Amino acid sequence: MDADAIVVGSGPNGLVAANLLADAGWDVLVLESQPTYGGAVASSSDVHPDYVHDTFSSFHPLAVVSPAIRGLRLEEHGLRWSHAPAVVGTPFRSGGWAELHRDAERTADGLDASTPGDGDAWLRLCAVWDRVGRDAVDALMTPFPPVRLGARTLRGLPGPGALALLRAALGSGLAVAEREFRGPHARMLLAGNAAHGDVALGSAGSGIYGLLLAMTAQQHGFPAPTGGAGSLARALVTRLESRGGRVVCDTRVERVLVRDGRAWGVRTRGGETLRARAVLADVPAPTLYGGLVPWADLPSRTRVLMNRFRWDPGTVKVDWALSGPVPWADPPSAAPGTLHLAETTEEVETYQRELAAGAVPSRPFLLAGQMATTDPGRAPAGGEALWAYTHVPQHATSDAGDGSVTGRWDAGDAERMADRMQARFEEYAPGFTARVVARRVLGPRDLQARDENLVNGAVNGGTGALGQQLVLRPVPGTGGARTPVRGLYLASSSAHPGGGVHGACGANAADAVLRGR
Ligand SMILES: Cc1cc2nc3c(=O)[nH]c(=O)nc-3n(C[C@H](O)[C@H](O)[C@H](O)COP(=O)(O)OP(=O)(O)OC[C@H]3O[C@@H](n4cnc5c(N)ncnc54)[C@H](O)[C@@H]3O)c2cc1C
Repeated sequence: MDADAIVVGSGPNGLVAANLLADAGWDVLVLESQPTYGGAVASSSDVHPDYVHDTFSSFHPLAVVSPAIRGLRLEEHGLRWSHAPAVVGTPFRSGGWAELHRDAERTADGLDASTPGDGDAWLRLCAVWDRVGRDAVDALMTPFPPVRLGARTLRGLPGPGALALLRAALGSGLAVAEREFRGPHARMLLAGNAAHGDVALGSAGSGIYGLLLAMTAQQHGFPAPTGGAGSLARALVTRLESRGGRVVCDTRVERVLVRDGRAWGVRTRGGETLRARAVLADVPAPTLYGGLVPWADLPSRTRVLMNRFRWDPGTVKVDWALSGPVPWADPPSAAPGTLHLAETTEEVETYQRELAAGAVPSRPFLLAGQMATTDPGRAPAGGEALWAYTHVPQHATSDAGDGSVTGRWDAGDAERMADRMQARFEEYAPGFTARVVARRVLGPRDLQARDENLVNGAVNGGTGALGQQLVLRPVPGTGGARTPVRGLYLASSSAHPGGGVHGACGANAADAVLRGR
């Protein structure tokens, strides 16, 4: 079973790397510890036999805009995309919605109706993004610094509006939301998207998340793979196998074998030794350094540098099979696929402050998905396959809510947190609970048990804070795909550009292999 390249882990980054190496004529073997491939890109009917729920990620706009995945032409390998009637929405208890539609004019009309002037401001932002967005995304998704693309992006930035955008991207999500817009609807569209990352809304660096996701939503929508997230993983594997690559599941790699500073293979849990010219690790940096590669095989400074590594927060995810649609007290003008449940930017900030203080949030910000709205085949006619997740501290020391969540994340804790999350839906959709046919709760430990990269439920392979981004990711001095061990590459979201289903970390690692770096 030896190979030219062994990829440890079959997440989207591992599978993209494997495809690119197979395209270059390499014999590639992917080893996956779980019984199924795909990492955090998976779906099943485990919640209820008549429903399809994604186990982890659901919406994959980053896969659509990423040059790495775009270039694989997965549509030729069975991938189809589905879109909800509206892209993103936030309901308000006083009535009305902030709605993002695929038609920018329609988004703007809605924003103007709530706060005159915000619609024009939205369209101005979109006009700048239309000029620079594609280059900006390409620049982010390639090894850093992206000298050629970065310069092209800057050349597309003439005029005062554009400079404001650049400032916004580098600043805080809150600052851009408050500077560009006067009303709560537009502000929540930006802030809700900024809150997908783990950077506080008031901190430098969160602006880029808000802008990137909100503008990607406007340009491309938030598509989901038709039939379930698993069909994206399936397309990646089908393509890989058509080029001679192999994926072997139920095979955990326990050790990367190193001799004279060079990786020469791996040892599996079953005790098998497999040789390869290159090993690509789709595992978090703390799993690789001092784990799969013992400290003795690494320069001593790697251990010192890794002390600076910071995880992103944990996660609790809830999936519901509903007998009917979410019974919104005040329904939106068109049903959004993605929902952000928080009333104001202040509410998002309070949630983030509690998280940062190690407290389980009292009023969790919910990122949610109506998957049958997006892809009707996910539920029986009229039903809904809904999910929501929220973040919790990596190590909770208190509960900012009613004190019922201990932070031990046993089944009781996870269920109580799920009740707290479900109560948020009841606020906007009275009668929600009566429609629940089945519910699955995945606490931080459950997520990690299904994908060991999700350490304590961390979804991004490490914080997205500025100090752990770009060449500083995973840690300063060991940035990017290259590692201190020749022939060993970091291919997971712990490397630049971080979390999300874009495959760029895997593509950067494959690029480094092929350039012999
Ligand atoms: C609940 C949740 C919701 C999310 N929602 C979205 C979303 O909607 N859109 C989006 O773009 N992103 C989303 N994300 C983030 C996204 O899924 C991840 O950033 C992405 O999957 C990271 O890809 P990866 O290849 O680096 O790692 P993973 O997808 O985590 O895959 C790593 C794989 O490596 C395997 N592995 C680990 N160690 C070993 C070993 N020693 N031996 C063999 N195999 C090993 C694991 O079992 C796993 O299969 C979400 C994540 C979570 C958890």
